[in-house]
Amino acid sequence: MVPGMVPPGERRPRAGAGAGAGAGGDLAALAELDEAALLGSLRERFLRQQVYTDVGDILIAMNPFQRLPLYGREVSERYRRHEKGALPPHIFAVADRAYHAMLGCRAAAPRGQCVVISGESGAGKTESTKLLLQHIMNLCKGNSQLEQQILQVNPLLEAFGNAQTVMNDNSSRFGKYIQLRFQKNTVRGAKLSEYLLEKSRVVQQDTGERNFHIFYYMFAGLSSEEKEMYGLLDPSLYRYISGRFGTEDVAQHWKHKYQEVCNALDMVGFQEQEQVDMQAILAGVLSLGNVTFEPQENNGSVKVSEASQGWLKAAAGQFGVQEDELLKCLICTMSVTRGEQIQRFHTRQQAEDARDSIAKVAYGRVFGWIVSKINELLAENVDPEVELREIGILDIFGFENFAVNRFEQLCINLANEQLQHFFNHHIFQLEQAAYREEELPWETIKFSNNEPILDLLLAKPLGLLSLLDEQSAFPQATDKTFVDKLNSSFKGNLHFQPGRGRVLGFSIVHYAGNVQYTAGGFLEKNRDTLPANIRGLFINSVTPLLSVLFTATISRTGTLMPHVKAKVIRGADDKFNSTRKQSVGAQFRHSLMVLMERMYSANPHFVRCIKPNSRKEPGVVDSQVVLQQLRYNGLLETIRIRRDGFSWRPSFEEFAERYGILLVKPDVSLTKESCLEILQSTELTGWICGKSRLFFKYWHKEQLAKCVEQLERAA
Ligand code: ADP
Ligand code: MG
Repeated sequence: MVPGMVPPGERRPRAGAGAGAGAGGDLAALAELDEAALLGSLRERFLRQQVYTDVGDILIAMNPFQRLPLYGREVSERYRRHEKGALPPHIFAVADRAYHAMLGCRAAAPRGQCVVISGESGAGKTESTKLLLQHIMNLCKGNSQLEQQILQVNPLLEAFGNAQTVMNDNSSRFGKYIQLRFQKNTVRGAKLSEYLLEKSRVVQQDTGERNFHIFYYMFAGLSSEEKEMYGLLDPSLYRYISGRFGTEDVAQHWKHKYQEVCNALDMVGFQEQEQVDMQAILAGVLSLGNVTFEPQENNGSVKVSEASQGWLKAAAGQFGVQEDELLKCLICTMSVTRGEQIQRFHTRQQAEDARDSIAKVAYGRVFGWIVSKINELLAENVDPEVELREIGILDIFGFENFAVNRFEQLCINLANEQLQHFFNHHIFQLEQAAYREEELPWETIKFSNNEPILDLLLAKPLGLLSLLDEQSAFPQATDKTFVDKLNSSFKGNLHFQPGRGRVLGFSIVHYAGNVQYTAGGFLEKNRDTLPANIRGLFINSVTPLLSVLFTATISRTGTLMPHVKAKVIRGADDKFNSTRKQSVGAQFRHSLMVLMERMYSANPHFVRCIKPNSRKEPGVVDSQVVLQQLRYNGLLETIRIRRDGFSWRPSFEEFAERYGILLVKPDVSLTKESCLEILQSTELTGWICGKSRLFFKYWHKEQLAKCVEQLERAA
């Protein structure tokens, strides 16, 4: 492409010119509005490599599954400060709008901007986020070091938080909200919030999926000496990452990625020792995963199987803890009752669960630590008096409906219900409110209001999460009692269906469809308790980082108990001894609330990512796949509202001031009467007059411009 040229796309036709079947890139201009027309336009555009389409001010982004020459420096330059409509729709245009809206707001009414990027897994949310950041950093150009840093932390986050899944080779397994903070037009800092890292992936992946990237990068990138130092053997030996290691090409790619991670770690300011510790911990996680158990002959308890003694030893070494202390955490639980320390032996299942939860918690803490280090690095360093403005970007997992849906899917789908509600609120309710305010008739647009589903999930004290918490706090409760509770509480609720078949579970009728959840593990996952002895184990680690990671959360009840007499209870099966904390559901609900509060107070921009087909193939549009997404994300209704609605609403003063010349007389007063007089002098139809302003369709502006043109030509 010639530098400085507009990317593949086209100039927008003049509005009102027969609507042009949306060829201008704004589907709000489609003459015929139905599913088929919408789909047809999107497909046609996509096949011409026009992957971006506007619907009013919502951007639809279709994943091209190939690199298109759309994102170069020249293109970015073209989109700086362009007028809306002057260039084809683009993700850079959204960045530009958000940036200038952020700059434009008055000091008296500071308003944050937020960009909400939604879509299902693999639709292109994370790529869109990166492009947005890239363009915004391009726009501000001030503190160049910080700008670079903001872009460079991404490889680090992706290495630890992304993994290959069936849906996406680089799937984010956590949600994130990035807040960019500006002083005037310069970025001063950034803050990252992460949501629900899928820790279970550390210990288990479905067929065709992988563990977090970093494990593979390490094997590809570390030298043999380094691997020896960390006690890493052949990657195929490790159960947590067993399976495919791919071709030489893949290995080369991973090696390159590893280098990128190391550079990012240096840049973020991780000390050499911290980096070493971190990799030792990851090696420890892998070794631990290979520890297996077998029953002791005589007393019903378990021991580490003969063949995996070596792995236990390796893990202890890598974690920097005593082997027998680690062993204790695996095969028994310590608790203290009335000053007496009680030791309960695990069953084999419990020992395996303990092993996996140690691996998950260690990994989760490492990830949390990386995020907090990134936040330290990017934190703004300005006088607190200085007023900072903000652009937030939300990249969070889309709606999920798998063969098996667990607690994690419930949380993800809850977040999507919230986002959908936010979207509805913004597009539909605000629109309606504007009409009501002007006392105009308004045929209520039908849209699926998902408030009842949010109530079902979030209501206190009788919503699903509250009931889950109630059950989680109750030691005798089981997944079965939890399901019974749901069945009795939600009997007759339109959005709840009791489980069918033999699997313990229930269904929720989400805005995007019916999802069947498997209840197994809900209580345990919601409690997510960290056994006190595991915390004690890691605090005492000689690996400084590990000790730090677990010190931060020492509980009120204390972890390291004084010497007390041990009493052995065999085969007891109660839960891990633990310290009280908020449940996972409650924490998630809270962080969602904080997020939604921020978003409701900001000026939103929506990017809706669409996956054109499920095979990640370029140039292929699968109508069913696309249609389903269009229905789920409310785009059809949005288009209708944009089109049927009156998108231009000048006040009487504004209008009379601008078009008074059409009356060809001096001193036109800026009143409603003048406006009506002006309009009656034209042939415009279909506009309405409100209490304080006029309401026009999008094409009226063009018609008025023509009237002015004619007048000027005649003069
Ligand atoms: P999501 O975050 O929605 O799950 P991603 O942003 O990770 O999806 O996109 C999935 C994959 O699709 C990417 O790894 C990339 O290969 C491809 N992709 C997404 N957006 C683009 C784009 N604008 N140009 C080229 N490829 C893209
Ligand atoms: Mg993603």
